[in-house]
Order: sequence, then C-alpha cells, then structure tokens
Amino acid sequence: MIIQLKASAGKSGLEKVVSHLAKDGVPRQRLDIFSGDTYNLVGIKGDASKLDLGKYQALDYVFTVHRISDPFKELSRQFHPDDTLVELRNGHCVGRDLSIIAGPCAIESREQLFKTAEMVARAGANILRGGAFKPRTIHRSFQGLGEDGLKLLAEVREAVGLPVVSEIMDARDIPLFVDYDIDIWQVGARNCLNYTFLDALSQVPNPKPILLKRGDHVSVSELLGAALRLYEGNQQVILCERGDKTADKVHRNVLNLNNVSYLKHHYHLPVIVDPSHGTGVRELVVDLGMAGLAAGADGLMVEVHYQPEHALCDGAQSLNHEFGSMVPLASTIFQARSGLGAAQAAECSVLAATAR
Ligand code: PEP
Ligand code: MN
Repeated sequence: MIIQLKASAGKSGLEKVVSHLAKDGVPRQRLDIFSGDTYNLVGIKGDASKLDLGKYQALDYVFTVHRISDPFKELSRQFHPDDTLVELRNGHCVGRDLSIIAGPCAIESREQLFKTAEMVARAGANILRGGAFKPRTIHRSFQGLGEDGLKLLAEVREAVGLPVVSEIMDARDIPLFVDYDIDIWQVGARNCLNYTFLDALSQVPNPKPILLKRGDHVSVSELLGAALRLYEGNQQVILCERGDKTADKVHRNVLNLNNVSYLKHHYHLPVIVDPSHGTGVRELVVDLGMAGLAAGADGLMVEVHYQPEHALCDGAQSLNHEFGSMVPLASTIFQARSGLGAAQAAECSVLAATAR
C-alpha cells in the first residue's frame, strides 16, 4: 500500500501518518518513505490487507492511498496460475471440459422434468439444471416445488446420469440440499451480495461446488469479494455471468462479456455464461452463448423446456430444438479456442458421449 500525502502536509503530516500506522501495528521498519520536492510518499511493505484504506484516505493531510496487491489474492492467477478444476460425479470436470448446463428454469412436474432432462442429455448436456426454489419478482406467481422439486431432481439424476445444479435461496434449506446430495449449489443473482448467506454456505462441512451468479447490479470487484467469502471455506467456486440491467428495456439483461474475458485472464475460478437470463430472448440465446465461449467462458448454462410455450417460468428465453444445434457449435468454438488437435477433440467427444 502507498500513501501519498498532500503537498501541504509537511513533516508534521508525515509524522502523523507514521504514528497512525504504528497504532495499526505497522512499525517504522516496515515503511519506505520517499520525500520528493513536493510530495511525501509512504510505502508499506508486507501484508497491508488488514489496514483500512478509507481511514487513511479520510486523513486531511493525505492526498490518496493506493493498494498495490490484489485484494482477492487467493483468487488471482498471480499467486495461483493454474485453473481451478471442479470434478463432478460423472467424471465431467468444470474448468477443463466444456460445461453444458441445461434444463428447465423451474421444475414444474415429474413429466416436464424427465422429458426435458432426457432431451438435454441426449443432445449433449453434461450437467442438468432445474430450479426447485424460484426467486420470482411477483410473489404470487409460481414459486417452484420446493423440496418436492429437489426430490424429483435427485430421481432424474439417476435416470439420465447427469449431475444436477439447483438454486439455494435460504440458509435454512442447507439440510435439504445435503439430504438430496445436490451436486452444485447455485447462488442466484439476487443473493450474490447476501453476506450472511454466503458465510453460512462457506461453513458447510464437506461442501459441494457453488455456482455464484453475478447480480445485475454487482461489479466485478463485488463478485470477487463474494467469491472470496465462499472460497475461504469452499475452494470449489464457479462464477457465472448473467448480464446487467441497462436503460434499454428491449432486453431483460445485457451480458457483460468484458467480465468473462477479464475474469479468465486474471483469476483462476471457472466462468460460466448464462445467455438465457443474460438476454431473456430465445432467438439471442445461442448467439450470445457462442460469444461467451469466444470470450473465454468454460461453459454455458441455458434454460431448455420440452414445451416452452407451456413453461410456468421463463418460457420466452427457453430453448427447445435449438439446444440440439447449439451443442456442436459450442464444442467447435471451445475446441478451436483451446487449440485442441483433431485426435484430442475426438477423444473429448468420446468422453462426453460416455458421460451421457
Ligand atoms: C436461475 O438461473 O434460475 C435464476 C433465477 O437466475 P438469476 O439468479 O440469474 O436470475
Ligand atoms: Mn429462469
């Protein structure tokens, strides 16, 4: 951390900063002081992560304060260059293999879930999604089947052989997610900054991987802060980009693909793109999914319904037969991006086929 004093601070300002630092546990030996013609700079060596930047910024003889090291150090590639890999029960590995997460927005009935699950499994999904607890804007609309939905999800997992992901909205439901052995616990956009909830999830013993969705009002730094809270207790964190709200009302959300590229370059957690909530419009889902993969995403999460016109939730953005053509396109982009040779590419499709 570097503290730049105001030109008017003089020697007394410098001494005050040094004495504040001493009170905060930073002795004189850890400081490097540079005195220029106009400004004094105080450099703090070693771990300054516990120092409150705002407190120093608030001193009236301080001009500005810079943090040098990444506050999300543990997530940064500078200290952990390798990708985080999330291994699932079917051998699929998020962060290594192309992840295609597909299924209905909400679990509505046994028939709807089984038909949709069979359809996405046949078409090449390697993870099945399905919401049992739905965070709906209008509380009188369908809220999901709750525990009955998780029960169906656990059953369909056996039938189609795919690991499952479902959203957990409340820490009180942790025992249910444990009992039904949900493979990936989704934290939705609305709970992305719910710190007490994140802390409760990070303290679950033998935790399952968590898919953390960036809220439409959440900055990348806030997302990383949320991910770091989880990471302290659970290193299996997967990030998900699902768009920003913008002034333009044409689309539900606008995917922020800058985030995808930025996160993949600088941080080691896997990143999934959700073009269903990221657009809200079926006809854009495949195109924006491909754009997400081109930007560096490790996979896609898309909503699929065997009868989107009858969906109780998000039918307008749910794919049907379009999903079948999306998977080979996605594999082509992923393989081209990963620079895989033809032989390895063939091996991947055999692996994907056996996983199904
Ligand atoms: C979902 O994926 O089911 C969902 C509710 O998404 P989001 O949290 O991104 O709105
Ligand atoms: Mn949805």
